[in-house]
Amino acid sequence: ASTRTPLMAGNWKMNLDHHQATHLVQKLAWTLGDAKHDYTGVEVVVAPSFTNLRSVQTLVDADRLGIRYASQDVSAHASGAYTGEVSASQLAKLGVTYAIIGHSERRQFHAEDDAVVNAKSKAALGEGIVPLVCVGEGLDVRQAGEQVPYTLAQVDGAFDGISADDAATIVVAYEPVWAIGTGEVATPEDAQEVCAAIRVRLSELYSPEVAGAVRVLYGGSVKSGNVAAIMAKPDVDGALVGGASLDADEFAAIVRYQQ
Ligand code: PEP
Repeated sequence: ASTRTPLMAGNWKMNLDHHQATHLVQKLAWTLGDAKHDYTGVEVVVAPSFTNLRSVQTLVDADRLGIRYASQDVSAHASGAYTGEVSASQLAKLGVTYAIIGHSERRQFHAEDDAVVNAKSKAALGEGIVPLVCVGEGLDVRQAGEQVPYTLAQVDGAFDGISADDAATIVVAYEPVWAIGTGEVATPEDAQEVCAAIRVRLSELYSPEVAGAVRVLYGGSVKSGNVAAIMAKPDVDGALVGGASLDADEFAAIVRYQQ
């Protein structure tokens, strides 16, 4: 048993307008609060679109909902002539706790490589935002049995030049690309294999203390029906949830995986 606080993060992706986002975060809070289940000890995070962060912030702050929120991306640049980008300092002013960085959809559709992920992570850390760094292999790599070295190379790239103190705060999400949005969930053993390898690598890069502090999440078609078996694995500290996080009841059930 680790002392790491389990973290359940909902990645809403490019879904929900302002009213829907407001409604969803409220419904999630009611569902979690109304259920007479104890989910204390699980950190709950939602990642709305940039345009919906302000509304989510207002609700969360006003009602002390006990839910944290993340951006889905952050600029590597501090400020200036970067049309369309959103900086870490702008996000910090919105009370963002985490920034998802290097999601496979960013890597695939926006050509983000490990150097970009590293630069964005440093930009976030510089403003007190915790990077939630996504790594994971595609189907071809998995079929070649190369998932561990492939993913560890991404970890090396993401953490390059980051201090041990900062590294200890970072959250890593292992998201095999073939399992994202496909309904094809990795087995608990698949998840454990790579999550454990990530922790060993952090121990080599830094120390056993840093490796023991970093939370490693699994992501890829997580649902209420499969989350408990995945969370039972010793090196899986939470889940990054896409599709299932858009349904308050389903995401609440994931948060309460211990019941
Ligand atoms: C994700 O986008 O991070 C994800 C894991 O999506 P899904 O849960 O829909 O597979």
